[in-house]
Amino acid sequence: MDQKTIDTLRLKKISPQGNLIDGKFSPSISGEFIEVISPIDGKKLTSIPRSRNEDVDQAIKSAKVAFDDGSWSLRAPLDRKKVLIKWANLVEKEALELAVLGVRDNGTEINMALKAESLSAANTLRYYGEAIDKVYGEVAPTADGILGLIKREPVGVVGAIVPWNFPLMIGAWKIAPALAAGNSVVLKPAETASLSLLRLAQLGLEAGLPPGVLQVLTGYGAEVGEAIALSNQIDVLSFTGSGATGRKLMEYSARSNLKRVYLELGGKSPNIVFSDAPNLELAARTAVNAMFRNSGQVCVAGSRLLVESSISKIFLDMLCKFTKELKVGDPLTIKNDIGAVHSEVQLKKNLNILKNDIEGKVILGGERINIGDGGFYMSPTIVNNVDTNSEIFQNEIFGPILSVSTFKSDKEAISMANNTSYGLAAGVWTSSLSRAHRMAEKIKAGMVTVNTYAGTDLTVPMPGMKESGNGSDKSLHALNKYTNLKTQWIML
Ligand code: NAD
Repeated sequence: MDQKTIDTLRLKKISPQGNLIDGKFSPSISGEFIEVISPIDGKKLTSIPRSRNEDVDQAIKSAKVAFDDGSWSLRAPLDRKKVLIKWANLVEKEALELAVLGVRDNGTEINMALKAESLSAANTLRYYGEAIDKVYGEVAPTADGILGLIKREPVGVVGAIVPWNFPLMIGAWKIAPALAAGNSVVLKPAETASLSLLRLAQLGLEAGLPPGVLQVLTGYGAEVGEAIALSNQIDVLSFTGSGATGRKLMEYSARSNLKRVYLELGGKSPNIVFSDAPNLELAARTAVNAMFRNSGQVCVAGSRLLVESSISKIFLDMLCKFTKELKVGDPLTIKNDIGAVHSEVQLKKNLNILKNDIEGKVILGGERINIGDGGFYMSPTIVNNVDTNSEIFQNEIFGPILSVSTFKSDKEAISMANNTSYGLAAGVWTSSLSRAHRMAEKIKAGMVTVNTYAGTDLTVPMPGMKESGNGSDKSLHALNKYTNLKTQWIML
């Protein structure tokens, strides 16, 4: 990755985009579109279709035809694998172009986007491609004269609705296992981060996906997203996004065909530092990254830092020092560490929370910066001594705002860690193996990391507890979401 290439790529004109239906890109049936604004400079990038019910009907119909004709669903896993691996190779070859396209749309810093978006998507396509011809069924331990078979079969048409913070990574976490298992997929990207997913889908066609197997519809959640979720022809709905939308999707399922709904929702994750952490400086540097990368717009962000009170002064000093070193600005400049906040609306929301709830406790940042660039930038912000009942301690902000609180005992740390409605991720820093295990057992979060923060790979699932959801992307477990369990009981 070099700056000169990025500077050339960022100037590429992006033509008005189309929905992918039945192997072709086309405008919405009504001809309506949405302007795409870049958070880098607040200027118009291009436009995407504003899809509605009629577009959804057409896409789902075509996905169902493709599923029923067996051109993908009945293909040998070995052949589906070849397509997915070819696709992964195409994505890898174009990784920088894809990353730059995505950054122009959503503002994530390029250093992160290259790794966490395009290269991660390529890795995910390859992983599920490689996996699918190695998954076996079972023979049940029945009495003599009976054959009991346990198999998994594709569900049919999968609806996938994804957010804007990591469109390629999260999109691939859903479409790769769903397609590998033989399903057709109707994908809806976020209205503010559709471009890289449309290009990913185009590469899928080039790799040999039959028409109709992957459809991509752009538009607003309350229009195209709702229509997908309410459809009786969608067999499974896989969603990543906010809890508010997740609640609606469960209701839409109940109002339609009771489709299974998998929800990967928000978090307010505790990052807990004990005085016996093996390396306090590493813990402080990691806490800064865990909070501020992608401007804090990360579901597993370590947004509640809990520090043992005996080390709070020294730890806070290091935290402020390392945070001040972060360079915030144009996400396509390699030397910048942090890019733009994704939209003006989100930026205003972040600033309002600071005004309303916690005046006087902001010890670093708290402002809009780089206003002259026309984009949406905010300084990394640290709020100290946060009251555990306050909004900033309890609610996901999804912006670069870290809340710091102190604790005196393991018991108090556990109680503070569990004192929110979320349960997505947690970090524990300690040299004591038994304390690490005890904390990991007691903290109600799907993913607990010790002496590091988040940063797991594709081999482990990413489950949520409590109001962080019921779904789990990644690993071989994800294949279960997109398959039905089928048994056969045969008298011989
Ligand atoms: P969001 O819920 O506003 O939107 C997510 C997607 O849902 C978008 O595509 C949107 O258009 C669509 N949508 C909105 N309303 C809808 C409706 N009524 N019916 C159907 N679809 C609808 O969330 P967001 O702001 O895009 O993303 C941020 C949230 O996502 C945060 O809460 C974050 O924590 C969460 N997230 C979770 C994970 C995870 O793995 N757990 C990962 C990334 C982000």
